Amino acid sequence: MKVVVKIGSSSLTTVTGDIDHRAVAKLCGEVAGLIKDGHQTVVVTSAAISAGLGPLGFSNSNRPKEADMLRAASAIGQIALMATYKGHLASNGLTAGQVLLAPTDLWYRSRYLKSRGTLYALLSRGVVPVINENDAVADDEIRFGDNDRLAALVAHLIDADCLVLLTDTAGVFTADPRRDANASLIEEIIEIDQHLEAVAGGPGTTAGRGGMASKLAAAKIAAWSGVETTIAQSDRPNVLVDAVAGVNGVGTVFRPHSQRLPARKLWIAFALPPSGRLIVDNGARAALEKHQRSLLAAGVITAEGTFSADDAVELVDEQGSVFAKGLTRWQRSEIDSHAGFNSHEFPDGLAEEVIHRDDLVILPS
Ligand code: GLU
Repeated sequence: MKVVVKIGSSSLTTVTGDIDHRAVAKLCGEVAGLIKDGHQTVVVTSAAISAGLGPLGFSNSNRPKEADMLRAASAIGQIALMATYKGHLASNGLTAGQVLLAPTDLWYRSRYLKSRGTLYALLSRGVVPVINENDAVADDEIRFGDNDRLAALVAHLIDADCLVLLTDTAGVFTADPRRDANASLIEEIIEIDQHLEAVAGGPGTTAGRGGMASKLAAAKIAAWSGVETTIAQSDRPNVLVDAVAGVNGVGTVFRPHSQRLPARKLWIAFALPPSGRLIVDNGARAALEKHQRSLLAAGVITAEGTFSADDAVELVDEQGSVFAKGLTRWQRSEIDSHAGFNSHEFPDGLAEEVIHRDDLVILPS
């Protein structure tokens, strides 16, 4: 099987923010166990920023506010983190390969394919890719932001079978276990709905960015990629081998959808940020959802945001619900002047469809 393991900052660092060598050693030992069992394994690691705070005179409880200083911290911490992985993987006879990704590496199809090629080449030689966001030069506006989402996109990228999100809680609970003594672990989730997001989605720790909300978002991406996700506690003995083997009670398991969105549609749905919104009428929504048609100008009521042709936009129905996403062939000014028009009414040169059905994805609710 192909496995992506993501481990969060709070599981990898001590209270002061320094790298917890024992935690990395445990993880690497378990990764080695997976590889021995024949599974190709990719690690997505956090904690670069956290590990670089100390040398700059900061700590997790006293994090700098300036983005430049956080980027600087990651530059220092990332080396230390990789040295730690390199050492512990080497003690298990394994080679580590560092891969630092930015969202644009997944947005642009050619870079997406190159990123995949690199990971496949590493895996084919038994190397363990150790991935993080390229935090040292990350753009505040354009970043993955949390490694849960990054890990889910990597799972899709390499066509993984399972994604394991290791964290400092045992999984998803019916309520916040830090506040509610009656909270119990949910062992299996078939569908992530708004109710679950409301009860389980909480903020993360001071060390990392992801909380349960970002883990649920990641599990959703994975589910639509045909990838099973398990959220489990990083310090549980044999957590990785048990999660991959599907041992009962290892954590919370999210079942994948049987229908896997094709790579291009998944990329449109989850990897590309929307630049604007098209508000469409109910007839258009039905035509897109029930009859897999393209979106025509006649069904568009209005637009919001600034977008050009080929940008991603969200489709919103008359009730205000976002139900689809796609790549628009029309820019904002063309929508403004021709929304609601039939095709024989608009000038030559405008694409027949505002969004072609090949560029449109109905979003999982
Ligand atoms: N990429 C960040 C780091 O290495 C972590 C993001 C996260 O906490 O998910 O510090």
